[in-house]
Amino acid sequence: GLRPLIAGNWKMHGTLRASVALAEAIRAGADGLNAELLICPPFPYIQAIAMSLLGQPIAIGAQDCHLVVQGAHTGDVAAPMLRDCGATYVILGHSERRADHGETDAVVKAKAATAIAHGLTPIICVGETLAQREAGEAESVVRAQLSGSLPDGFAEADGVVAYEPVWAIGTGKTPTEADIAAIHAALRQAAGATTRLLYGGSVKPGNAAAILALPHVDGALVGGASLVAEDFLAIARAA
Ligand code: 13P
Repeated sequence: GLRPLIAGNWKMHGTLRASVALAEAIRAGADGLNAELLICPPFPYIQAIAMSLLGQPIAIGAQDCHLVVQGAHTGDVAAPMLRDCGATYVILGHSERRADHGETDAVVKAKAATAIAHGLTPIICVGETLAQREAGEAESVVRAQLSGSLPDGFAEADGVVAYEPVWAIGTGKTPTEADIAAIHAALRQAAGATTRLLYGGSVKPGNAAAILALPHVDGALVGGASLVAEDFLAIARAA
């Protein structure tokens, strides 16, 4: 099977000092894991963490990038800059970016193509809202998001897809195991055999083993629990 990927999305949390310490605490517990570990700090902390983890087997990612590589885009960050600072992954199309910044599937697709072209592995996020789930539309919504967001060459670039139901993020709620498995089976069809498929949304040490054992779940995208080294490592050990 595919090597599991356990990714921490730190979102907009932390200080420089605490973030470097968190990265080092995760590194200190990472020996002998089956899973690949990835941490995605806020932009300003990426370089310091990359320096402190230099040569260590933990990957660093960003939480977004712009769709063009340079230019008059005040406040934005380009894919080659992230690569330059030590990132090798980038989360794209997270529901918080779709909601806060109006990112559409077409924007996510363009960002992913740029990321791949500049040596970053994109993690493309999809997921339904509670209203969509209750209307029985979860699978069709996720399929449509994915087909609109995946650029050509995605599978060949070892791209990653994350299924994150919006209503499961930060709520302590998760879909049933059968519901996760059904969505992941649909994602597998669309994304190809070698694309790692992550589940995200209230993954904790207590539910990680059951979720990670589901067919076509090749890892997790972890928010809150990734801010506590012991919890993140416990999730990684469950993979
Ligand atoms: P939580 O793990 O805090 O629910 O966040 C999930 C998420 O949004 C990861 O990208």
